[in-house]
Amino acid sequence: MLGEAIIKGMAVTAKNFAGSYVSKDRLPTIQYPEERQVLSEAVRNFPFLVYDGDDWEKGLRCVSCQICEKECPPKCIYIVKSKDKKPDYLGKPQLYPAIFDIDLSVCMSCGICAEVCPFEAIMMDQDFELSNADRFGGLLVNKEQLARSHDHHMRIRPSEAGPIEERRAAAQAKAKAAAEAKAKAAAGKPADGGD
Ligand code: SF4
Ligand code: SF4
Repeated sequence: MLGEAIIKGMAVTAKNFAGSYVSKDRLPTIQYPEERQVLSEAVRNFPFLVYDGDDWEKGLRCVSCQICEKECPPKCIYIVKSKDKKPDYLGKPQLYPAIFDIDLSVCMSCGICAEVCPFEAIMMDQDFELSNADRFGGLLVNKEQLARSHDHHMRIRPSEAGPIEERRAAAQAKAKAAAEAKAKAAAGKPADGGD
């Protein structure tokens, strides 16, 4: 029938219009900022640096390998390696970023930095309220501003952060067992605890 598709389309529109008065699910408009949208795990905006524990500086996972800096398409990451080292979560001495800046006004939210990081140290955040009054450098953020806890990662994207936590806990347990075996061997005892 001529115009059947138009009539069907109008019927869907009318159904949603009438339904929006009785069903909140049919009304996608929300009263922002009083109401907040519930974001899906898939939402990715700008990167953040993950840290473990309570101290962002001590707990930063980044070892300053600079892979993300090299791979970032618009080159908006700037890293300077430390001169000294600090122990990572396995107790291995690692370099850390003395400077880690990202120019968010240049970042195109591609997520490549998070994909290429071998240390699960940089992830994509969901924060979108970043506007400020500084036209020059207001979106140039440093490592302190970029630091977010592992708990934050778990909150916004548990299906990504959960397996990472499990892998890191298993690696920690393995490293601890190896260290204990080494200590026993050094003390002249067999590593399995026998005589
Ligand atoms: S999200 Fe893309 S553009 Fe932004 S810092 Fe990461 S690699 Fe660079
Ligand atoms: S965030 Fe990851 S890829 Fe980038 S420098 Fe740190 S450890 Fe390397």
